[in-house]
Amino acid sequence: MSDIHYPQNADLRSLLRFCSEKGLIWLDESRMILMHAAALSELRKELINSLGIDQARRILTRMGYAAGARDAELARKIRGDHSLQDAFVVGPQLHMLEGMVHVTPFKLDFDKDASHFYGDFLWENSVEAEVHVREFGHAEHPVCWMQIGYASGYTSAFMGRFILFKETECMATGRNRCRIVGKPVEEWPDAADYTPYYEADSIVSRMLELRSEVDALRATLERRLPPPSLIGSSAGFRHAYTLIDKAAVTQVTVLLLGETGVGKERFARALHEMSPRAGGPFVAINCAALPHDLIESELFGVERGAFTGAQVSRMGKFERADGGTLFLDEVGELPLAAQAKLLRVLQEGEIERLGDDRTRKINVRLVAATNVDLHAAVKAGRFRSDLFYRLNVYPVVIPPLRERVADIPLLVEAMLKRFGALHGKRLAGVTDKALRALKGHAWPGNIRELENTIERGVILAPQDEWIEVDHLFAGPQDFEASQEGINDAGSLSAADAKDTTDTLCNQVIAAGMGLDGFEQALIQHAVKEAKGNLSGAARLLGITRPQLNYRLKKKEASV
Ligand SMILES: [Zn+2]
Repeated sequence: MSDIHYPQNADLRSLLRFCSEKGLIWLDESRMILMHAAALSELRKELINSLGIDQARRILTRMGYAAGARDAELARKIRGDHSLQDAFVVGPQLHMLEGMVHVTPFKLDFDKDASHFYGDFLWENSVEAEVHVREFGHAEHPVCWMQIGYASGYTSAFMGRFILFKETECMATGRNRCRIVGKPVEEWPDAADYTPYYEADSIVSRMLELRSEVDALRATLERRLPPPSLIGSSAGFRHAYTLIDKAAVTQVTVLLLGETGVGKERFARALHEMSPRAGGPFVAINCAALPHDLIESELFGVERGAFTGAQVSRMGKFERADGGTLFLDEVGELPLAAQAKLLRVLQEGEIERLGDDRTRKINVRLVAATNVDLHAAVKAGRFRSDLFYRLNVYPVVIPPLRERVADIPLLVEAMLKRFGALHGKRLAGVTDKALRALKGHAWPGNIRELENTIERGVILAPQDEWIEVDHLFAGPQDFEASQEGINDAGSLSAADAKDTTDTLCNQVIAAGMGLDGFEQALIQHAVKEAKGNLSGAARLLGITRPQLNYRLKKKEASV
């Protein structure tokens, strides 16, 4: 046996949190599940019977590999400042904590620059060997495929090169235990017999790929897909998209309604891209961003000499959008004079530049947007009712982000790509916990706020690693209030008990109560809680009635 000893696993145990009221188990920021070994057994049996031994083995190996690679990130994070060996054994220790197998290192020899690795481990209580034997009886060859995948995935991620583990003995073949040996893949002369189990490419996945290609083609034939600028699949999104899609082929004036930041300009652009005008210009203008006295010249253009400072003739947005689409954002902010002119343009299809008496024919599709209640603005006399009816022919409500939570993963993925490229960051993604926090946030600022949050995460997360909750939100997130962890004895206990004790002690000391003072206060409180019943009070305090009597007398004596 080797002289390798495991460090205490309290640091790893503390990563495991049970939020039973929310139906969640966390290992640090990864979502975990407690699965019946019987369910794993059923899965293995189904895989073997339907796909054959080789495919079943490949799937389970890859499943284990993914888990191991995830756990290797914790090794860096939790024991990055420990010895290399203590950091490495996070893998075996987590494999045990996760209930897969008992691992005893037999020989472990490796160096930091990853040029060398040799690991020899003994396995007992292998769950895979156990369920395999129960289902199929003794096997001719080793069967701990998922676990071997885990060891290879963990070690490869830890070392930064492919370390292939082989099971040299297996309990399922009638041995007392399993044994695994791992070294760099190049050092195994028969590596080619094993590596196919780690590869995604296979007949099955090729078949599935072909089928999804067929499905995608069929879907494209049935309906047009949204342009890539529009992302979503939630019911609220699809409803808005369908309305846009139907309007695109017509000339109808579209009014986009929705809160600030819901992405109205994206929808307007998508409408343009899907319309027969796609080859023409798309021009956007935000009416709230311009000073009132400039709006008219911006929209309709200006002729030289129209007013002081107008030294050259200039086209307005309407002329620029000729043959295409003009997007008027925050249309509710237009001053009344500009509203009158806009109405005339819409009615007559021609514009007149400021300081010009010529009219010019224009062919523009108008898309307007607002986040204010135009009805109310009409009533208050801030918005012309005739213009309102002209714009409100085809209103489309863009739902706020909190009503399209199902779209958040898709949106986040697209934003990660965009900001990753922008900031030169390669990231593994967002952790399960971070994604959950993103889904639980209220997003008053909608898509724009989500974009800012993801950009912040991309900037803060270390290269090649995961974006965690702390990278996204400043300040503590209380979205998982009650949690339990695993204590030394292996049972669940409130994870924040230690914190509560710390707080309480600090308060007692800060109050200057002293030990005796605190003891008496606690006793009086217990007596009161027990409504004067001393036996009841003793029970609350976890002491006997005579012990309580003694303490009460001690107090009387000191008075
Ligand atoms: Zn085995």
